[in-house]
Amino acid sequence: MNALEIRKDFPILNQLINGHPLVYLDSAASSQKPRQVIEALRHYYETNHSNVHRGVHTLGSRATEAYELAREKVARFIHAPSPEQVIFTRGTTESLNMVAYGYARAFLKPGDEIVLTPAEHHSNLVPWQQAAKATGATLKYIPLQADGTIRLEDVRATVSANTKIVAMAHVSNVLGTIHPIREIADVAHAVGAIMVVDGAQSVPHLPVDVQALDCDFLAFSGHKMLGPTGIGVLYGKRKWLDAMEPTYFGGEMIDVVELYDSTWKDTPWKFEGGTPIIAGAIGLAAAVDYLTDIGMEAVRDHDHRLAEYAFQQLKEIDGVTIYGPEDGRQRGGLVTFNVLNVHAHDVSTVLDAEGVAIRAGHHCAQPLMRILNVSSTARASFYLYNTESDIDKLAAAVRTAKEFFQHALG
Ligand code: PMP
Repeated sequence: MNALEIRKDFPILNQLINGHPLVYLDSAASSQKPRQVIEALRHYYETNHSNVHRGVHTLGSRATEAYELAREKVARFIHAPSPEQVIFTRGTTESLNMVAYGYARAFLKPGDEIVLTPAEHHSNLVPWQQAAKATGATLKYIPLQADGTIRLEDVRATVSANTKIVAMAHVSNVLGTIHPIREIADVAHAVGAIMVVDGAQSVPHLPVDVQALDCDFLAFSGHKMLGPTGIGVLYGKRKWLDAMEPTYFGGEMIDVVELYDSTWKDTPWKFEGGTPIIAGAIGLAAAVDYLTDIGMEAVRDHDHRLAEYAFQQLKEIDGVTIYGPEDGRQRGGLVTFNVLNVHAHDVSTVLDAEGVAIRAGHHCAQPLMRILNVSSTARASFYLYNTESDIDKLAAAVRTAKEFFQHALG
């Protein structure tokens, strides 16, 4: 994989920010888009746009074909047994809410348990809190180790005969921890619980095979994997999708509508009420083609190498605290850190002045920030267009920030 060649496909990277060449290290928040994705959207709107699944005219058929082909490509990308198990949503947040509504609220009762980790993104936490409140189920948390990993024995000790759902990020957006989902799914299944995986940070960066993971649901977002904003995916096992009620009711998702009752289409269309996100799905398919051409093993190895290099570079700077597992094999393509006791927003502002874009804040993981005993952290995240030179610039900018604040704080 040649990141320098890949960069040529990303027009946005070729610009100056505050007088410096842009160093984009915020792909975990949202990745940039290659020309191929931008071109797929332009081509669709210029030649094929129409509503899908209704018009009996040529554009209607073309748009429908492209939309359903996108579903097939996404299904192949995550090794789903069939395209019908891929539901297009607005993103990870909507996908997880659909499971919390359609599965948890429908099937849980008082005394049932939902098992989570305290490191979850709010999108994989708040919907379960709400489902627990609505059904009388309770939430239980698997304890985190100091380095942000979880131990399988703690998973086994937390999951009980009352557990109905285990929900967890495949890769933590703050600590970068890669969780052993298959082993955890086996623990969940042994007590008859389902395994819900937040794949927002894994599907863009690792080869993901839903059958090998044996997860019951997988949620992810297009915009973090080179696709447009506003498109995401919910994958589910067929038996659950068939048993679940739709979340949204209206046009497109119905079979027969009478004055006092209606019936629904089959999965996945019953979950896609209203005009679907047609262009978004087509853009996501172009992103999937792009990633497939490069190969997800190559993407994973590249991101991993950069994260290791960044970890080593930042570790050498006095006054920098790094969070998450030290063992690179347990870490995805990001490094989260703080500089002295300075608020991460201030660090990020100094880095921005050097053209380096990172994320700073609580990363939608307030409970985890409390465990780490910080109000915020800085996060540099890497993708296929980043190079070691980007990381050298990050390290240099962090040194500049440290010296600036050391001076300012006396
Ligand atoms: N889960 C994780 C682990 C994430 O990193 C994110 C995005 N920051 C989300 C969920 C939510 O994704 P979206 O905002 O695209 O719905």
